[in-house]
Amino acid sequence: MTRLPTFTSHLECSATGAHCPADTLQGLSAAGKPLLVRYDLAGAAHALTREKLAGRPEGGFWRYRELLPVRRDENVVSLGEVTTPLVELAALARAAGARRLTVKDEGRLPTGSFKARGLALAVSMAKELGVTRMAMPTNGNAGAALAAYAARAGIEAFVFCPADTPEINVREIALAGAHVTLVDGLINDCGRRVAEGRERMGWFDVSTLKEPYRIEGKKTMGYELAEQLGWRLPDVIFYPTGGGTGLIGMWKAFAEMEALGWIDSRRPRMVAVQAAGCAPIVRAWQAGAEHAEPWKDAHTFAAGIRVPGAIGDFLILRAVRESRGFAIAVEDGEIARALAEVARREGLLLCPEGAATYAAWKAALATGQVGAQETALLFNCASGLKYPLPPALTAG
Ligand SMILES: *Cc1c(COP(=O)(O)O)cnc(C)c1O
Repeated sequence: MTRLPTFTSHLECSATGAHCPADTLQGLSAAGKPLLVRYDLAGAAHALTREKLAGRPEGGFWRYRELLPVRRDENVVSLGEVTTPLVELAALARAAGARRLTVKDEGRLPTGSFKARGLALAVSMAKELGVTRMAMPTNGNAGAALAAYAARAGIEAFVFCPADTPEINVREIALAGAHVTLVDGLINDCGRRVAEGRERMGWFDVSTLKEPYRIEGKKTMGYELAEQLGWRLPDVIFYPTGGGTGLIGMWKAFAEMEALGWIDSRRPRMVAVQAAGCAPIVRAWQAGAEHAEPWKDAHTFAAGIRVPGAIGDFLILRAVRESRGFAIAVEDGEIARALAEVARREGLLLCPEGAATYAAWKAALATGQVGAQETALLFNCASGLKYPLPPALTAG
């Protein structure tokens, strides 16, 4: 028997724990909740050790192959993923009297955002399971990543974005040959369009957390971070939270790594950062609620986190609470000032969502929600060059 490179065992409902098979195409669980991929972690621990991993060449998240769901190598769809760098913000940390502030710069990935992690996995799985058409609602970056990986896999892609999605995203989606439709509304309205067309058009719906594979790509941020830091995680992680896939994914990765014997039981405090104009998770966290009510009249120029309602809300809130973290909202004005400050002082151009994490860190440091002695890690999830920049005359 040839051994497969993955240790996938089954899929599990994130709400009820019910199992379903891993090698047929799946969307939501029978209970209508996100499905999570589970692995034979004891088996994987024998096959892949930290030492063995250290001997692998660089080259991004496919190095965690055993802990990803793709069964056959020929189905891996890749665009040259890289291990994203950790960039120290030493001057800004010093100015704030803080010990260490680091950015994980995800803007270096194919299509210029960390959506590449999730869509590389989702498209690879779609290829493996014989899908010919995929569809999703998006605020831009996810659609761009879907369009690119689907083009490479020979899969037809249908993308629905709000009419005010950053133009560069709409154009790159179209250039990659995907069918792109602008919708007068928000991402949840786009999601409705996908749901309506799904059966008639034969689409595999790759909406955030409505299929189990994108989160497996996003979880690799947790693996990569741990490995880069010598298997010692930072004290606190600030994550710009829309659908929350990355936050939930990293939380899953930490549990897997502990079971593999790669890290101990210490965890970073997880901080969900949202824009004040769209902060359903912050409101739910403050209220002590298990689920988040949809946010009305959502607005922020940080498009990636303009998500009025997330299907994985309870999983985001659970990770934030279990980690003794918190949720925090920042105004658009603070985000713009943060973006300019980091560019000027550190030479690092963040995307607005990434800048929101810096604004949130500063605010949390001022209120004592985060201590100066805590090592803090910010996620910059896309290249700042994918967004309209302020005019040169008024910058800074
Ligand atoms: C999608 C996106 C986010 C939000 O990520 P989730 O894991 O879905 O919460 C943040 N920033 C950028 C740039 C994005 O594209």
